[in-house]
Amino acid sequence: MAGARGEKVTMQEHMAINVSPGPIRPIRQISDYFPHFYPFAPALLRPRPAPLRALPSGPAPEPASGSPLEEAGPPAKPPGLPLGPEQEQDGDSDDSTALGSLEFTLLLDQQNCVLHCTIHRAKGLKPLDSGSIDTFVKANLLPGMSKASQLRTRTVRASRGPHWDETLTYHGFTCQDAGRKTLRLCVCEESRLRRRAEPLGELRVPLKKLAPNLTRSFDICLEKRRLSKRPRSLDTARGMALYEEEEVEAAGEERGRILLSLCYSSQRGGLLVGVLRCAHLAPMDANGYSDPFVRIFLRPNAGKKSKYKTTVRKKTLNPEFNEEFFYAGQREELAQKTLLVSVWDYDLGTANDFIGGVQLSINSTGEKLRHWRECLARSDRRLELWHPLDGAHPQLGD
Ligand code: CA
Repeated sequence: MAGARGEKVTMQEHMAINVSPGPIRPIRQISDYFPHFYPFAPALLRPRPAPLRALPSGPAPEPASGSPLEEAGPPAKPPGLPLGPEQEQDGDSDDSTALGSLEFTLLLDQQNCVLHCTIHRAKGLKPLDSGSIDTFVKANLLPGMSKASQLRTRTVRASRGPHWDETLTYHGFTCQDAGRKTLRLCVCEESRLRRRAEPLGELRVPLKKLAPNLTRSFDICLEKRRLSKRPRSLDTARGMALYEEEEVEAAGEERGRILLSLCYSSQRGGLLVGVLRCAHLAPMDANGYSDPFVRIFLRPNAGKKSKYKTTVRKKTLNPEFNEEFFYAGQREELAQKTLLVSVWDYDLGTANDFIGGVQLSINSTGEKLRHWRECLARSDRRLELWHPLDGAHPQLGD
């Protein structure tokens, strides 16, 4: 094939050059490699699941500061096989210990349907640029539209080991939610130069691990932000497109939920309907939020006041209303009627958008029926319950 003389060797060497060095990475990710000169450097390129461990009670031992290895907490994994193509597609191909770790506690208050997520502190964060960093933690419940469940801490300035000690609270969070939702916590860096905050690393906790009413502590390594799953056909064309941020999780049909209180007042001779709050409503406006208000309608209620609405809460998906409305009538008579509750997004100048609704009557099922029945079966007993919103558009007949 090749010439008879020494050219042969040269030719073979030339053919052995790897012309496909792998995916193109954004500069920011390459820069993350520079500070780390670990003896196990090849291991940096393999994905690994975040170690999930409960802390023993009492404060965690403070690791010595200085070395990135010591700050990182959990031990580095042993060196393994070189990077294979499937592993590249996983996306989080950086060593998680390199990004720092986050300490937080979770408490699911079953009775009040509340999830408390207390963010304590982060350790060993690696800033995108050199110098001091301003960071905050963003929380989301997945799957679901990420803005609907987004909560965040305040920003702590100029620290690579920020202490937030701040509790983020999810109202309307049930044990059923815990069975199917995952909490994503993302440490973000705020920068005066960049417009958007940049994620430094994230972690995910499947909430089915939580036992109700028991505080559980975590200290988990941060991983690179996970990437969207690409269609199979695009797997071969890896490149920048692979690194798109995953903002829209499998959203499903979730519209949010509402906390209602019902009480038949014997003193006033009628039904008190409390619209307390809504949680993770669907966003209807271009800014990713809604301006929610709630309408209630008792049907049929001929000749009497039957419609009410709450005030509008601006730019929120977790509004608190705490407003109460009154329908006069006998218990037996009211029990035959239907209470239509609907949540709307207020829009200036155009028609308001319907977000979702719930109907309570003797013909309802499940918790809705229980709520209606129990409140109208007895006087002066106030019952608060969360109800998921459905898409059945109420015929309010404005
Ligand atoms: Ca609006």
